Amino acid sequence: MWKSVYADFTDLTETEQIELFNAMKQDLFPDEPDKITKLLDKIRETRFSSGLACVHCGSTSLKRNGKYRTRQRYLCKDCNKNFNDLTNTPFSGSRYTEKWVSYMEMMVEGYTLPKIAKRLKIHISTAFYWRHKILNALSSLGYNQLQGIVESDETFFHESLKGKEVAHRKAGTGRVKAEEIDAVIGEFIHPTALLCTDTATNYKKFAKIKGLQHETINARQKQLVKKGIYHVQNVNNFHNRLKTWIRRFQGVATKYLDNYLYWFRWLEIDKHLAFEKQVEQMLISACQKSNYRTVQMLRTA
Ligand SMILES: [Zn+2]
Repeated sequence: MWKSVYADFTDLTETEQIELFNAMKQDLFPDEPDKITKLLDKIRETRFSSGLACVHCGSTSLKRNGKYRTRQRYLCKDCNKNFNDLTNTPFSGSRYTEKWVSYMEMMVEGYTLPKIAKRLKIHISTAFYWRHKILNALSSLGYNQLQGIVESDETFFHESLKGKEVAHRKAGTGRVKAEEIDAVIGEFIHPTALLCTDTATNYKKFAKIKGLQHETINARQKQLVKKGIYHVQNVNNFHNRLKTWIRRFQGVATKYLDNYLYWFRWLEIDKHLAFEKQVEQMLISACQKSNYRTVQMLRTA
């Protein structure tokens, strides 16, 4: 039967053949219902967990103002501006709504920009701006304070200027001053925490400044674990995984390094979750706060 239908296929023009193919494909494999629509309720709940408020001025004096592309729109009676659940998120104003979830999946996979651009049929610079809009949004959520046993150690990256391949080591031994340690991680360590470091650092002074309990591991004496529980193996393993993961990007420009560190940390925290959950979590979190960073701001950063 199908053979007689197929026999007429060659009578069609090439355009007609493609149209027929697409029509059959749509019948056999209908598009999945837009996943983002399913996620919108969750995004709304997270974003407005303390009540629906204007994303521009914070006013709670709002009225529903119709729907745009199935999305509820609100009008603020105070500032007179419209907004919806995705206004001021990395995805607001994007023309490619159907590609967001796929994009997030590739963020969780840790795909490179050329691979993403090819898969989603978007320009590589679009892929780049989406990446950093998402990472800026995630990093705006900040960090929690660390409690209990806190391991700390340093790892180094070659300085890379704007994607050029000229990488060089900064002069000096790389030994970081106690004040520099304090400036970077001081506020993220709870006063009751116990700090674990190796002996070849300036953490002793840092711990003193912060009034933290401190245990040091002497790596040179092949001491790996002290008193049965104190070591820096977790942080060293983390650094190894980070270095392995980041290698695929073939030299991250130093000015974007923070974003990649945040990205990796995010993947580490959620790695016990199923893939779908990781994607959902990343998407919802990226939309949690209002972020005004535009492509223009990224360009000039
Ligand atoms: Zn307003």
